[in-house]
Amino acid sequence: MSAVSAADPAAIDPAAIDLAAIGAMDKADPLSAFRARFVLPEGVIYLDGNSLGAASSAALAELGKAAGQEWSHDLIRAWNSAGWFDMPLRLGDRIGRLVGAAEGQVVVTDTTSINIYKALHAALAMRPGRSVIVAEGGSFPTDLYMAEGVVSSRPGTSLKLEGVDAPTIEDLIDDSVAVVLVNHVNYKTGELRDMAALTRRIHEAGAMAVWDLCHSAGALPVELDAVGADFAVGCTYKYLNGGPGAPAFIYAARRHHDDIVQPLSGWWGHARPFAMERGYAGASGIQRFQCGTQPVLSMRALKGALDIWDEVDMTALREKSLALTDLFIALVEARCGQYGVSLETTRDRARRGSQVSFAHANAYEVMQALIERGVIGDFRAPATLRFGFTPLYTSYRDVWDAVGILEEILSSGIWKEPRFAVRAAVT
Ligand SMILES: *Cc1c(COP(=O)(O)O)cnc(C)c1O
Repeated sequence: MSAVSAADPAAIDPAAIDLAAIGAMDKADPLSAFRARFVLPEGVIYLDGNSLGAASSAALAELGKAAGQEWSHDLIRAWNSAGWFDMPLRLGDRIGRLVGAAEGQVVVTDTTSINIYKALHAALAMRPGRSVIVAEGGSFPTDLYMAEGVVSSRPGTSLKLEGVDAPTIEDLIDDSVAVVLVNHVNYKTGELRDMAALTRRIHEAGAMAVWDLCHSAGALPVELDAVGADFAVGCTYKYLNGGPGAPAFIYAARRHHDDIVQPLSGWWGHARPFAMERGYAGASGIQRFQCGTQPVLSMRALKGALDIWDEVDMTALREKSLALTDLFIALVEARCGQYGVSLETTRDRARRGSQVSFAHANAYEVMQALIERGVIGDFRAPATLRFGFTPLYTSYRDVWDAVGILEEILSSGIWKEPRFAVRAAVT
């Protein structure tokens, strides 16, 4: 197989890759035109779109319009005239297209943490007589913090963890389990779960599945309806590029809508919010998952970002994502392997998200040195160098250049300089 059309890292011959080959890959890239829609600083190779996606001109234009015209001029009228009030549902439907959900099942609202709380609570209420929540010991921590919060507010409920109470999630599933909360892609290792198979297994045991899509929405095709998922949650500020603090989304399969108990029963989830009724009556449908007034400016940036996503073919996106991560793995192993980096992400394409993690004993210092040289990835404790690959604005040339800079940093040992050991609050 040629270097250019390699199907996995092992099939790439790093010695056969040079700038000409990289140039050919970029030239053949069907997604390359999207790069110009983003505003990235000169001299930066941005490999952290899995933490905070890049700004797009469309998102910035929406922000400007919402603040400069609608808020400044239309004022309160804009809730109706500019469609602010319905925006959570309209944006939810557009995200639905990216995660395989038919209309009316996704709403943009609150944060992923809060949406986890709502989904777990709803799922538990639908499985009376069952008391166990199953999750992953290696989960993104907030998922577990929120699950613990649910447990503390529902006497008799308990949390069992993969890697703590049993080796795998499958081992923990039995008829005491009400709900399984699971990350589609692990935030640290990039491991991708088989959503169809695990959802089937969860349903066979009579339990509900809550999928956390933070690292798969906008990173790869997701088929919530087709696999029969019950609930799902996810971020919009990572691969979806909605902007810092953009609100999250929540999905509930239509077959559950009449049975959903919303524990955060605020007025935006009421059937008639402006009737100002004394009693709570949950809205029918997914809007029941709203709680209070939504962040309109943040949603407008997300709207701009989704205008771009409307044009994206998710199959082409996945193909490029895998090609970028294959290339990065092959080049780093060939050129930096002797300096103590070891791959933490699987080589198996079927189980890989859109990120690559390498362990290094001094990962923090190495990442700080990379960032000083303009290669922005991130560090995850205790010893992980994490690189996210966002096919809409990352080129094969970016991968090539980033590996060259990593090689220089490791071979020169410049990362040992004391300034790289200073820790900031956000890593
Ligand atoms: C990023 C991320 C979150 C973030 O939750 P917020 O409440 O939006 O801060 C939650 N879960 C996972 C798996 C994540 O990757």
